[in-house]
Amino acid sequence: MFIPDEIYYEKAIKSYELGISLLRKYEQVPKFVIENHNNIEKLRKMPNTEFSNLKRKLIIGVRKTHRYEENHKVSDFLVPYTSSGCTASCLYCYLVCHYNKCSYLRIFVNREQMLQRMIKTANESTSKELTFEIGSNSDLILENSITGNLPWTIQNFARSKHGFLTFPTKFDMIEPILSIDGKEKVIIRVSMNPEKLINLVEFGTARLNQRIRAINTLKDAGYKVRNYHRSGYFCRRLEKFIC
Ligand code: SF4
Repeated sequence: MFIPDEIYYEKAIKSYELGISLLRKYEQVPKFVIENHNNIEKLRKMPNTEFSNLKRKLIIGVRKTHRYEENHKVSDFLVPYTSSGCTASCLYCYLVCHYNKCSYLRIFVNREQMLQRMIKTANESTSKELTFEIGSNSDLILENSITGNLPWTIQNFARSKHGFLTFPTKFDMIEPILSIDGKEKVIIRVSMNPEKLINLVEFGTARLNQRIRAINTLKDAGYKVRNYHRSGYFCRRLEKFIC
């Protein structure tokens, strides 16, 4: 279980049920109030050598940007959802390219607002059933071990007449989403790589046998499961050197 070394939070999270419960859950962890989760000067100024220590911090805020990006690969829209960043350290992670050493886990507590917007968009679409990618900025199975957001999301999205959710993962803490309603509206993409590569470059994630077990369990539970290879190009090149 992830216990952060420090928590940085926006005051506004105290107006949200999830914000209050996270502060309570991590009562013992040292906390600092911040103005804006996007720009924490103290952390931004730390040297790059602090990368692994920064990954042990948790940032909690309110998401202000809700712009959907069209996507024609695995979904219709990339949706900014309840988290950004991750506690793991895959060497090729594109979040590191975006946020550099500040690719730590940020959690956004205004989940009701984000979910309602998705349900509205899904039900307003007359031409087709829309699929929403909710995990393009984070790993929601990992995030769920901190927030419990995933069962909440899946069960509430089940009330929507239309639409599907999808997200990728490299983790196997799937127990909380096995016995809930709404599974038929969710496509989970489990990221796979040869064991050698996982051990070499995907630090802090589930190992290959754990992911295979998770795939089978999710499938048996009623989820649509797809294989996912975010790091394909990088790993194919790396494979040439190490295999
Ligand atoms: S698990 Fe995903 S989000 Fe986390 S470091 Fe690896 S690639 Fe990045």
